[in-house]
Amino acid sequence: MWDIAIIGTGLAGLSCMRQLKASGQQVCILDKSRGLGGRMATRRVTGPIRVDHGLRYWPSEASAPELAPLTHELIEAGVLKPWAVSAYELQADDRLVQVEQDPVYVASSGMSAIAKYLAQGFVPDETLLTEYRAIDISPYGQPDDIGWRIECEGGKVVMARKCAIAIPAAQAADLLATCPAETFSEMVLEKSSTPSASPIEQLRAVDYYPRLTVLAGYGQPDKNPLDMGKLNPDGWMVTDTIGTSTEWIGLDSSKRAIAADGSKPETTLVIHSKTGFAEKYLDAGDLQPAASALLRANARKYGDWIAQPSWFHIHRWRDAVVRQPHPADTLIAAPTLVCGGDWCVSRPVAYPITAAYRSGQAMAQALIT
Ligand SMILES: Cc1cc2nc3c(=O)[nH]c(=O)nc-3n(C[C@H](O)[C@H](O)[C@H](O)COP(=O)(O)OP(=O)(O)OC[C@H]3O[C@@H](n4cnc5c(N)ncnc54)[C@H](O)[C@@H]3O)c2cc1C
Repeated sequence: MWDIAIIGTGLAGLSCMRQLKASGQQVCILDKSRGLGGRMATRRVTGPIRVDHGLRYWPSEASAPELAPLTHELIEAGVLKPWAVSAYELQADDRLVQVEQDPVYVASSGMSAIAKYLAQGFVPDETLLTEYRAIDISPYGQPDDIGWRIECEGGKVVMARKCAIAIPAAQAADLLATCPAETFSEMVLEKSSTPSASPIEQLRAVDYYPRLTVLAGYGQPDKNPLDMGKLNPDGWMVTDTIGTSTEWIGLDSSKRAIAADGSKPETTLVIHSKTGFAEKYLDAGDLQPAASALLRANARKYGDWIAQPSWFHIHRWRDAVVRQPHPADTLIAAPTLVCGGDWCVSRPVAYPITAAYRSGQAMAQALIT
């Protein structure tokens, strides 16, 4: 049996795990996906091509002071490097205006490298269980010494004295709903932030903005001379303030390293949709029309070449960025069961990733004390 099981290997789960491990706890962490990192997501397309379809970049120490120690560590370890990106806004009448941008960092091999670094030392199939979706959680033991039995898809069972659920709120609510009905009413919720609402009700009150994300590749830059217009060909991102389909578009390939032989990476773009556009396609079976619409809309603004990629993919994020947060750094469902993630926001953050980190720390603190 583990001291503590953590469900979810996003930044919240991983930062929780690190703090618990440092305090000497026997920790096991599990995730439903094959890869680590949750929304710090990188897609390996073909060969060496990697594209970030979730977290776009990591904030600087000045913009996110709470992350600064980890930021330094990730830079020292060679995981993060500065992204020399020019930022623009697309304003009325298709005016492209260069705007101030705080320094930001990226990972050459993709943002999921952050998760791989944080999980170093964890042993696959022992302390690190991937492709294990938690589908049922139930308490066991005596009322004054409750532990948790976590059942995963496929029948694997993880037993732990304490548990941190570091997954998006709606999914955490579904998981807690598998507990026997009396579980939370019978327990003494000493630390609950809003004891009047049940943990499941508090989780259901959280809401996210959805996004559609298109990843597109255009072959080698020299085979596709790109007319970037006023955009800096070495690295650019545009926030679209006027369009109805696109929220953000960026030259993802400018985050990647130049190969040892001096060749540049294939040109790749990432396009994140606006919320309203994503909502239209939330339950659509076929997302190809949405991808084509996003590519065409950006081709009209930045050059016809954008509508003619050599390959593209589209990803649907139902829970992309938090719209209605939970007003605390963690939600204590029971004395030995805490929930957290970027949906826990006790005070405003400039970057959602800060809330995920802070919540991970808060979950660890709640389980240690
Ligand atoms: C398109 C996009 C762009 C973004 N850009 C930025 C940005 O530029 N800056 C910024 O600060 N933030 C950005 N964000 C937000 C940021 O990525 C998130 O706030 C942060 O990564 C969330 O971390 P988390 O640990 O709370 O959750 P997640 O990263 O979602 O981690 C949850 C993990 O739990 C796993 N899981 C879920 N259910 C189960 C289950 N039942 N059993 C086992 N495992 C399960 C999932 O597989 C996942 O790995 C962006 C997000 C998206 C989607």
